[in-house]
Amino acid sequence: MQGDRLSPAQCRRLLCTDGKGKGTFSGAAMSQETKTIDHLGEFGFIRSIMKGCIQNSERVIRGIGDDCAVIGPYGNRVFLITTDLLMEHVHFLPGRKSFRDLGAKTVAVNLSDIAAMGGVPRHLFLSIAIPKGMLIEDLSQLYAGMNEMCGLHRVNLLGGDTSASSDGLFINITLIGEADPRAVLYRNGASPGDTVYVTGALGNAQAGLHLLTGKMRAPHEISEQLIVAHNRPQPRVETGRLIAESLLASAMIDISDGLTSDLGHLCEESAVGARLFEERLPLSEELKIFCRVNNLDPRAIALSGGEDYELLFTVPEKNAYSLERQVKSKGYQIFKLGEIVRERGLHLVSSEGRERQINPSGFNHFSRESP
Ligand code: ADP
Ligand code: MG
Repeated sequence: MQGDRLSPAQCRRLLCTDGKGKGTFSGAAMSQETKTIDHLGEFGFIRSIMKGCIQNSERVIRGIGDDCAVIGPYGNRVFLITTDLLMEHVHFLPGRKSFRDLGAKTVAVNLSDIAAMGGVPRHLFLSIAIPKGMLIEDLSQLYAGMNEMCGLHRVNLLGGDTSASSDGLFINITLIGEADPRAVLYRNGASPGDTVYVTGALGNAQAGLHLLTGKMRAPHEISEQLIVAHNRPQPRVETGRLIAESLLASAMIDISDGLTSDLGHLCEESAVGARLFEERLPLSEELKIFCRVNNLDPRAIALSGGEDYELLFTVPEKNAYSLERQVKSKGYQIFKLGEIVRERGLHLVSSEGRERQINPSGFNHFSRESP
């Protein structure tokens, strides 16, 4: 999860906890021994630790590398497990959003990962490190927000751990879901010729964040909706389940880091590329107004802005009509964005038909490219 997007320099400062350049994550030299996390980046780091993690592969269907780990089967079900942490100053800043919103969002980002595999969320564990002096009222609000989001999806809180924190609030959630093993959708199932879809408008959460940080402005009538999009994302649990259980789709991921970044992950895992059509990007009226006022291109925000928690999925061409009909008959919206191609990399086709290569961009803890 990306959160309130501190700059890479701010993230680096936060990681150098001793302030003297000591410790695993600090230092700037480029030799192998002194290479830092900044050079590897978040995704390079994850790739670097993948080897040697599985000591007993029994019932491990999927480990590191997807939105959830998948284990089983147990009877005719598999379990989906996902975990996310939120750290004060990195994912959220004090006073930026209410504790109730923070609680709801912490649960929502985990629900979204279960949705991305097509599962049903069931049980949650919550660990928290609390700074000394934190108000009980704020903690009550945090749990009220969590319970609210859990209540919407009938998820139980079954345990966790509590500690004091020497520096800010720290929250970690582990969420367990379940699914029919035949229905689970992975990031690696896309093939050339598949159609690429998304479940909703993109870029609203990023615009909301710009408003919250006071960097940009918007008329009152629309700013509220954009801020809500950032503070209160609604994970697409029912839509994800419907898409997976239709058995018509080939791959799925949720958009936490940004469209091109998460499509990049899906393509990398599937060993394919994608071509997106600029004019098909679903843009809300609120985002268009926001961009007009702030002299921004809404399509750029839709391509790289993160935290919309929409689902991005691919469907073989022969299944596309059936799937669209099933989804729309249940009242859910989906938008066709483009197609999967054999050639690796991402391409964007402009409304005039000009095609250009684009780099996956979006949030990456430690990346020098992140804003
Ligand atoms: P998402 O954005 O869907 O939550 P991430 O990009 O955070 O996914 O993680 C991608 C994959 O890497 C997931 O399978 C996750 O469990 C795994 N992962 C991330 N960080 C670590 C870590 N420190 N150790 C082991 N696995 C990790
Ligand atoms: Mg995810």
